[in-house]
Amino acid sequence: MNINLNNLYMQAKKIMPGGVNSPIRAFSSVQTTPSIIKKAYGPYLFDINKNCYIDYICTWGAIILGHNNIQIKSQIKKFINNGLHFGLLTEIEIKIAQLISKCMPSIEMIRMVNSGTEATMSAIRLARAYTQKNKIIKFDGCYHGHSDFLLTCSSKKNIKNEFSSQSISDGIPESALSETLSCPYNDYESVEKIFKLFSNQIACVIVEPIAGNMGCIPSQIKFLKQLRILCNRFNALLIMDEVITGFRISLGGAQSYYKIDADLTCLGKIIGGGLPIGAFGGKKEIMQNLTPTGSVYQAGTFSGNPISMIAGYTCLKILQFPEIYNELNKKTTYLINGLNEVAKNNNVSILINQCGSMFSIFFTKNKKIQSYQDVVLCSKKKFNFFFREMQHFGIMFSPSFSESNFVSLKHKKKDLDKTISAAKKVFKNNVFK
Ligand SMILES: *Cc1c(COP(=O)(O)O)cnc(C)c1O
Repeated sequence: MNINLNNLYMQAKKIMPGGVNSPIRAFSSVQTTPSIIKKAYGPYLFDINKNCYIDYICTWGAIILGHNNIQIKSQIKKFINNGLHFGLLTEIEIKIAQLISKCMPSIEMIRMVNSGTEATMSAIRLARAYTQKNKIIKFDGCYHGHSDFLLTCSSKKNIKNEFSSQSISDGIPESALSETLSCPYNDYESVEKIFKLFSNQIACVIVEPIAGNMGCIPSQIKFLKQLRILCNRFNALLIMDEVITGFRISLGGAQSYYKIDADLTCLGKIIGGGLPIGAFGGKKEIMQNLTPTGSVYQAGTFSGNPISMIAGYTCLKILQFPEIYNELNKKTTYLINGLNEVAKNNNVSILINQCGSMFSIFFTKNKKIQSYQDVVLCSKKKFNFFFREMQHFGIMFSPSFSESNFVSLKHKKKDLDKTISAAKKVFKNNVFK
């Protein structure tokens, strides 16, 4: 017998705000009721009524090997005979730290935390302490977790300071915003202006080197190069938030793809192999200012818990073959070429941004999407319709016009073909005309 989904979701809504533990899961931006998932394997999600979906959310990018990986599961099972978490140092923490440092040479030392939010928050504290300065620069549309001073975008209200921030959430005090300056993504001229305006007050610039949280938007190489130059010139740290792009774009992350050195790097998602994790790392000279060797306090009861470590380590070990990334890129390009073709044949105007195995479908006639300012001009209505129709055909895209989609190693040609032929049917609808 089928479970009544609406009934179950009603129960969820009574006991949890929006019925979920993280807002995007409520599917409210695509104006539908959320799927309730029972299990997953490979590229597939199965809801409580056994409906199968080809999954392009991939746990928001955390799953690169596909769901329910056998090797990761068997390593976890083996480990838990010894216990779960001891709150003291374990060998596996050393092994994963060494492996990450080998893959990302800018990370000479690392600290594990429990989420990406913690990673960015702590990296910024460290940057402020190291530079003895307070102001930070971030970019509109980049997401760095939900700490007060990072939930901001540029403010149009304060005409005295064109780069001042406004919060994108209630409950954030003015004082938390006073040290955050926001710029449009890919706009290094704005960053240069800020540096000149506040020349000796900027502690760091934090950036997603490939944005994944306003849809997928790559940095222009000149933008990142200029950020590096400006940070050097004004003694500020460049923090690359690679929570999505780390081990997604390549083993060395986006920084190795762009060949630009980060002072501090934030990681999360993939490095947990499907379990909760976050990490930040960088130059030894900076990192050793953390307690206990230095005076920048940072701690966590469950930081470096061995189950996340063993899952992450196993995942990163499997990724140690460069051909994996070629395969992922090829699959994603195949999918995108197919989607573009069926869109064109039906006269539907879309623009797909792709970086490796990350991509976003924008409904727009524009030829480029380079910033959040561009993203908001795309048709939300068309995207939402597209999402819901694709879901009926068993295809699960990210449930918002401003999120990224991900391809995993387990997506097979038949899954990609099924996605393309579903889109072909959906694009025939008049909504897209
Ligand atoms: C997901 C994400 C975060 C936050 O990570 P959580 O583990 O959800 O706290 C930070 N930065 C980026 C770029 C992310 O994509």
